[in-house]
Amino acid sequence: MRFVIIGGDAAGMSAASKAKRNNPATEVVVLEQTEDVSYSACGIPYNIADAQRDVDDLVVRRAEVFREKQGIDLRLGHRADEIDRAKKRVIGKAGGSSFDVYYDKLLIATGARARMPNIPGKDLPGVKVVRSLEDGRQIKAYLASHRVDKALIVGAGYLGLEMVESLHDRGAQVEVAEFRTELLPWMPRAMAQVVRSELEGKGAKLHLGTEVCDIRPIDGRMKVFTRKDSIETDLVIVATGVDPNSEIADRAGLELGPSRSIAVNKALRTSDPDIFAAGDCADAFHVITGKRVWVPLALRANRSGWAVADNLFGDVVQLPGIVGTSVFKVLDMEVARTGLSVPEAQDEGYDVVEEFVKNRSRAHAHPGNQDIFVHLVAEKKTGRLLGGNIVGKEGAAHRIDALAVALHARMTAEDFFQCDMAYAPPFSPVWDPLLTAANQLLKKLK
Ligand SMILES: Cc1cc2nc3c(=O)[nH]c(=O)nc-3n(C[C@H](O)[C@H](O)[C@H](O)COP(=O)(O)OP(=O)(O)OC[C@H]3O[C@@H](n4cnc5c(N)ncnc54)[C@H](O)[C@@H]3O)c2cc1C
Repeated sequence: MRFVIIGGDAAGMSAASKAKRNNPATEVVVLEQTEDVSYSACGIPYNIADAQRDVDDLVVRRAEVFREKQGIDLRLGHRADEIDRAKKRVIGKAGGSSFDVYYDKLLIATGARARMPNIPGKDLPGVKVVRSLEDGRQIKAYLASHRVDKALIVGAGYLGLEMVESLHDRGAQVEVAEFRTELLPWMPRAMAQVVRSELEGKGAKLHLGTEVCDIRPIDGRMKVFTRKDSIETDLVIVATGVDPNSEIADRAGLELGPSRSIAVNKALRTSDPDIFAAGDCADAFHVITGKRVWVPLALRANRSGWAVADNLFGDVVQLPGIVGTSVFKVLDMEVARTGLSVPEAQDEGYDVVEEFVKNRSRAHAHPGNQDIFVHLVAEKKTGRLLGGNIVGKEGAAHRIDALAVALHARMTAEDFFQCDMAYAPPFSPVWDPLLTAANQLLKKLK
């Protein structure tokens, strides 16, 4: 069996390694267009924050280890361009020459790419995106060779806000231009205000409802024009979202799903049973709605890569799906969410009840206590939990996992309230903030 994988990062290399572990006789060929393989993209903002750290510290396993210890035929600098499904071949380019590889089973694990608005000045050397290890190297090289007193982040999603912290740590005064009129629109306004206060309290300036339309070089700096005014800066980081690298699948006639991601079933097969897709290029099923969604995040990429390897010789793994759990840190604030926001739940036709509580991260008399904010969303008719958000300087990030598990288990607010959660003064009040929020929510459900 020859298993060919297009894309050598989280999903692709998880599948390659597991396929070899499952059955060492499987011939595994990985085609990766760059010279980098298996690295933690999620660590790039934190690596940029530290001028002393080498970007290559983020490499999880080096190419030689995959080749020599695991027997994987890893071909770097190989860009796949077409899939000939009739002849079961992948056609592409490597170093100016063409290649053509036969497959018995194929995995498309081509990930996603940074979205770059088509505006004048987008190609200036001081305008960067943060997606690949090479992007990380380029940003660090720019910071090393230029004086960056001011930085402008375009986009206030999780990556944009992580980059606020990163460049703040590098001593830059950071401004953020966000097209939407609200910060973090999936959470209650009072909660988003907590994040905003953290940003502004540490000197970051937010421009909401601001569309960048032109970037021009001036005297070694840049002038960024918005619809309203202009901002002078030394570095522009564009973090306006990502798009799935699904064109190769589209050209091969495979079905696409939401946001033009590649449609896969729960066994990760595309509309061609010999071709799988996994990771950021593919869709998934939402556990709450049962519908197809596109949520490009790391755990799902690794998990779906493993599942593909397990399903090579027949479908033994069916992934139940995701609830869209995510977390990020901005300066000293942890920001976490899972499940459906109120507008998302309403769009799905749910009649919702929500509760928002401010509580404490530790027992009331315990030193180091911090505010923690919990928001829960449930269906009015059944009391089933649909989602939530947690924000705070400590205890927010990992608490969200309890709520994510409750969503996977299809718990009601009452089921969740009855859960036996841990307590000791350094970690929470006796009634964990999640339980307090559930209790308040129950009052609205009665
Ligand atoms: C800066 C940053 C921070 C992030 N932080 C988090 C986080 O905190 N938590 C979280 O859950 N997720 C985070 N993510 C997202 C996470 O990194 C991705 O979900 C994950 O990397 C997806 O893995 P993947 O293998 O599907 O795709 P990718 O990592 O995008 O890998 C796809 C690979 O395919 C290659 N490729 C593409 N097209 C071709 C082709 N035609 N031929 C050959 N090779 C090709 C690419 O070069 C690439 O190496 C972050 C991402 C970034 C960029």
